[in-house]
Amino acid sequence: MPHPLTSLRLRFLLALGGVLLITMVGLWLIGRLLVLPALLEEEREVASRELDRLERSLTHNQQLLMAQVRDWAHWDDTYAFVQGQQPHYAQVNFSRSMFEDMDYQLMVFFDPDGNVHWLAGIDPASDAYHACGQARGDCSWAAALITSLQQRLDDAEEGGSEHLFAKPWPSLIGISPVLRTDESGPPRGWLAKVRLLDAAWKAAIHDQTGLPIDVEPTLDAGPGDTHTLVQQDGTSLMNVSRRLPTSQTGLALNLTTHMPRDAIRTSLRTFRYALGSAAALMLLVIALVLLLLERMILGPLRDFTRFTHSLHDPAVTHSTPLALLARNDEIGTLAREFQGLLEEQRARTSSLLEQASHDHLTGLANRRLFDARLDEALIAAELSGGSVAVMMVDIDYFKPYNDHYGHQAGDTCLVQVADCMRRLADRIEPGLRPLVARTGGEEFSLLLEGGDHATAIGVAESLRAAVVALDIPHVASPVGSPLTVSIGVASVQSPPFDPHALMREADLALYAAKAAGRNHVLDAAEEP
Ligand code: GH3
Ligand code: MG
Ligand code: MG
Repeated sequence: MPHPLTSLRLRFLLALGGVLLITMVGLWLIGRLLVLPALLEEEREVASRELDRLERSLTHNQQLLMAQVRDWAHWDDTYAFVQGQQPHYAQVNFSRSMFEDMDYQLMVFFDPDGNVHWLAGIDPASDAYHACGQARGDCSWAAALITSLQQRLDDAEEGGSEHLFAKPWPSLIGISPVLRTDESGPPRGWLAKVRLLDAAWKAAIHDQTGLPIDVEPTLDAGPGDTHTLVQQDGTSLMNVSRRLPTSQTGLALNLTTHMPRDAIRTSLRTFRYALGSAAALMLLVIALVLLLLERMILGPLRDFTRFTHSLHDPAVTHSTPLALLARNDEIGTLAREFQGLLEEQRARTSSLLEQASHDHLTGLANRRLFDARLDEALIAAELSGGSVAVMMVDIDYFKPYNDHYGHQAGDTCLVQVADCMRRLADRIEPGLRPLVARTGGEEFSLLLEGGDHATAIGVAESLRAAVVALDIPHVASPVGSPLTVSIGVASVQSPPFDPHALMREADLALYAAKAAGRNHVLDAAEEP
């Protein structure tokens, strides 16, 4: 059995797990390096467009204010007013409600020298409406703003000038020279209107654009990146701001809005969902692959290994499991190949066993097998109180036969005698378990289990006669043709059941049969 750490299952699991890991890391990297940057870029573009929209709104407000400034400044009544005429002009035209309705914070009339002629407005701190001839007293809150306005008067040509101020309050400014209604001159001063970018203005812009807006004074860092984008991971809102230059040196306005990050969050959620689904799907695929692997390969392989392992146990009848042999796949082929090899091996083994225990020329049992069977027979006889008889059969004058007819003919003769003995043994009662063996060159032995002495002599005599009946010519034999055999018989029916003693007795009997003139059967008891 393979070590659990080197088993195919674990290796497959590791390999597939590795593939899963690499895929997930790859997808994650794609998300991180391609998808997320693309989404962020798109979000940035959307943010930039929204800022454009806000800026256009601001510009539109400014243009509106400018049109209103021009409308007032190019008017005969105003023209007269800034020259000290029209005593009721201010009283008729200005009131707190007008300022509130028009969203003006301050209106200032300047004389041609740039000095304040008249001003009116609502103090953002106290929310009190005042109209004054100078930026002093009740109107002192406007002094700083008016100083800033005075610096910009020269910019205002005929058409007027628009400005964005950061200090003292973020505000829209429109300045126009004061002309007659038909826009003829000469200019008699300037009219400036101020609209604060205050909470009310922000609320109005929010209503118009749907975007919350904030405007904060900041130091103008000069030319450069005017965009700031805060896209924090995990937050649902994004801070987007743009720096707008103002007409005040060194000062700028930060236009800020908050945008929901729904689009990118939805996209990322979808991507993560897809990633999770892909991982779950791959895990499922891995589980399925392992299951199939188990059923199609590992299970059968284990059966096969179990089977090959069982071959070590000689008690097991060795045949490859049928289910393996019936398979049409590679494992089936392997099992059939193995079965073929197994059968070949068995045939070779039994052939070797056969060769080891039988004589090559005659096919009879050899001395080795004969000795083994004799030992077994004697042990059995000793245990059961039976008897064992043996006879040694030797061809007479076989050397002269070989010399006369040749070695080849000698072999043929040996085969003929062997066949004759085999036929005779087949006729002996099977209970005697007769065994014929070639125990020497031209010497044979016959074993009878349980055969008594008389039976053995009878068999030996039949055998001698049968060889004569073969009628094999042997002209070189002093006994005379045909070929003959001499047989020595010995038997034992009481202890000691000693194989060597028994064979020695048979040998002596054979010697005696030879001495008696050959073509004789003699038993040990009769030997001289
Ligand atoms: P005896 O009657 O005393 O047995 O005389 P013998 O010539 O048969 O006995 P001996 O032992 O002198 O000669 C045995 C001969 O058997 C010698 C040998 O050439 C021959 N022989 C032994 N094995 C074989 C064999 O396998 N083939 C052949 N052709 N001859 C064999
Ligand atoms: Mg011999
Ligand atoms: Mg002989």
